[in-house]
Amino acid sequence: MSNASSASNVAAKQVVTRIAPSPTGDMHIGTARTALFSWLYARARGGKFLLRIEDTDRARSTPEATQGILDGMAWLGLDYDGAAVSQFEQAARHAEVANQMLAAGTAYKCFATQDEIEAFREEARANKTSTLYQSPWRDADPSTFPDAPFVIRMKAPRTGVTVIKDQVQGDVTIKNDQIDDMIVLRSDGSPTYMLAVVVDDHDMGVTHVIRGDDHLANSARQMMVYEAMEWDLPVYAHIPLIFGPDGKKMSKRHGATGVKEYQAMGYPAQGMRNYLARLGWSHGDDEFFSDAQAMDWFDLDGINKSPARFDTKKLDNICGQHLAVMEDAQIVSEIEDYLAASAQPELTPEQKSCLLSAMYCLKGSSKNYPQLIEKARFALNVRPVDIDEKAQKQLGTVSNGILNELTPHLRSVSWDRDALEAAVGRVMETQDIGFGKVAGPLRAALAGRTQTPSVLDMMFVLGREETLARLSDAVQE
Ligand code: GLU
Repeated sequence: MSNASSASNVAAKQVVTRIAPSPTGDMHIGTARTALFSWLYARARGGKFLLRIEDTDRARSTPEATQGILDGMAWLGLDYDGAAVSQFEQAARHAEVANQMLAAGTAYKCFATQDEIEAFREEARANKTSTLYQSPWRDADPSTFPDAPFVIRMKAPRTGVTVIKDQVQGDVTIKNDQIDDMIVLRSDGSPTYMLAVVVDDHDMGVTHVIRGDDHLANSARQMMVYEAMEWDLPVYAHIPLIFGPDGKKMSKRHGATGVKEYQAMGYPAQGMRNYLARLGWSHGDDEFFSDAQAMDWFDLDGINKSPARFDTKKLDNICGQHLAVMEDAQIVSEIEDYLAASAQPELTPEQKSCLLSAMYCLKGSSKNYPQLIEKARFALNVRPVDIDEKAQKQLGTVSNGILNELTPHLRSVSWDRDALEAAVGRVMETQDIGFGKVAGPLRAALAGRTQTPSVLDMMFVLGREETLARLSDAVQE
């Protein structure tokens, strides 16, 4: 086979990649990573990135799963060119290609019944020969054809080897005698998945097939269809699957596997993109990077040959670093999306503006949106502040004295962080107490919680009037 020369033909063409998920359940993070790699590769080269929904399996495909894929892609910001292609809708084209192969003699009609195939296999097992079905119809004379249902099988070469020139795995050689004459069109005229993938990739002009290495073995058979149709082969890059911390294929046992679940956990999409890009691909020691850097750096030779292990701590860490540098307005807008996606009440205009002014003291220490919202509670709450049990313990006769003494200082200081610090300092001095003794009750009064941003930041963000009102509420309780 002249694989190498066909593959090199695509080098000069515009890069076209695709993601081709089957809509049979929640979008897996492995699919998201494959989509991300394909997107990065195409976008960095001025190419196209396409989406094909592989909904040929009618029994397992659902509209909800298709919607989940569209939502997942949108959340991750993986924009694709043109409209999503439905594989099922191309069925007539798949049949047309099967018939072209038939006419060209690279495929044949096979009239074998299930019983005959089973009998062949039984005999092969008894004789200890290969159970790969060898149809007697492969070279049959058409005049002997019965008037009976038939399938169309690919006439696969029986000798020699097929070499998959994989960009990640290297040259993978498969002996042709290990490959049977696969069915391309069933007796009801419906195409098989193996045919559909190739026809669609060809028709969509896909130059680079980047996908999970669970499809590596399929490539040898798929390449035969390209050869039979004399189509240019795509470049193949088969990525090792994602493993859990125990070195086994990532599954529900290890925790969340669905893109939707990570969105619901409130991870920022750009952090998720960064983490997924690092999962099985590396650029030196770089762990934290922007989309622009990822696009600049991403290449197929940086994809690791061994499976990556999913590490939630790393994901948290990278997401935290992204939140720390994201624009405040973008964070607020993503929080609004997060609240909507998780069916929580939307922000009022006041909450939104308060959140925006508080962002500087929130974003440096949060890994995801729920954490950030928890820290922002002081800014989002309206009076009277709901005070939890732990914070309640900070309030009492002693703390009332402290807060009462602080109040006149707060009435007169200029409202900036230094002046507020000086005001707290004066109370510490006159009462001869440490910072914590003032900060504890103040924190409880302002936020109703014990885990909050710094009291100085909270006062600064809330402003004089609101701060004094919350102090007075707490003292009166
Ligand atoms: N539909 C296949 C899957 O979801 C992907 C096929 C391909 O990428 O060629 O695993």
